[in-house]
Amino acid sequence: KLVLGIETSCDDTAAAVVDETGNVLGEAIHSQTEVHLKTGGIIPPVAQQLHRENIQRIVQEALSASKVSPSELSAVATTIKPGLALSLGVGLSFSLQLVNQLKKPFIPIHHMEAHALTIRLTNKVEFPFLVLLISGGHCLLALVRGVSDFLLLGKSLDIAPGDMLDKVARRLSLIKHPECSTMSGGKAIEHLAKQGNKLHFDFKPPMQRAKNCDFSFSGLQHVIDRIIMQKEKEEGIEKGQILSSAADIAAAVQHTTACHIAKRTHRAILFCKQRDLLCQSNAVLVVSGGVASNLYIRKALEIVTNATQCTLLCPPPKLCTDNGIMIA
Ligand code: ATP
Ligand code: FE
Repeated sequence: KLVLGIETSCDDTAAAVVDETGNVLGEAIHSQTEVHLKTGGIIPPVAQQLHRENIQRIVQEALSASKVSPSELSAVATTIKPGLALSLGVGLSFSLQLVNQLKKPFIPIHHMEAHALTIRLTNKVEFPFLVLLISGGHCLLALVRGVSDFLLLGKSLDIAPGDMLDKVARRLSLIKHPECSTMSGGKAIEHLAKQGNKLHFDFKPPMQRAKNCDFSFSGLQHVIDRIIMQKEKEEGIEKGQILSSAADIAAAVQHTTACHIAKRTHRAILFCKQRDLLCQSNAVLVVSGGVASNLYIRKALEIVTNATQCTLLCPPPKLCTDNGIMIA
């Protein structure tokens, strides 16, 4: 059985063909990141237009790379939610037209479920396992009990960590920094943080007393905004120039973000273990999403999993971000 997967929920147009054993026969992806970096964020009608311009070619490329003709497909699977409505619509209408032509079944896919299950392509992971999804658009902790059986344990009450890191990077004008100009906000923060001292700023991790597994990042973002404004005054520079303390701020924001994510995840692991929702001796925590590629944040999560006898698994970076393979 061969399934074509199509993903257009945000700013990547992606497609792939996967067989029933999880073998990836071929894939193709078109990223819009470069365009959106220039405008300082995703403008939905622009994303929609770019999906329209690329979807036919990307699906064609995925099929050619797989050496599969459309008539050999068993089904077409496409992300139907959650995401940007205008972006989702392009993939959905393309797929519906295709399944109509081919007279093949259509499989609607929940984007977050696909992210959560991707690890099963590369590792032998039994249900139940815990999953932490941290990206630019999402932040959630869930217990995965089966292919479509999820227990949501926590989510961000406001923005996602990647969104916060992107906003801080933009406020610090890191796009003008010679070493970071082509990096996403989160990656730029990670890069610059290596040159900074996190102890120069003392940002408090959010929600320290909250007795749940939810997250919050917008309060931290506002605190950092205020600090940046204050530093700009002190250093006598204009908004848009790079602060001499930018690396220290990057190190501190990365550290606080890592602490917050690790503490909430620790709570979730303890909650599940106490209620026998996870295997006591061999519990697995899967971490995915663009922010999961941050090695400092991973290290913080490793400390938590080591302390709770859990195994930490991350899909390879290419499968952590949006792709057609996870949908197929
Ligand atoms: P979605 O949740 O719909 O998948 P997305 O397109 O933002 O949204 P990803 O492509 O998974 O998701 O992740 C992109 C995000 O990850 C951006 O916010 C980016 O700043 C962040 N990111 C990428 N690399 C790093 C890194 N090394 N450290 C921290 N954050 C990073
Ligand atoms: Fe995603």
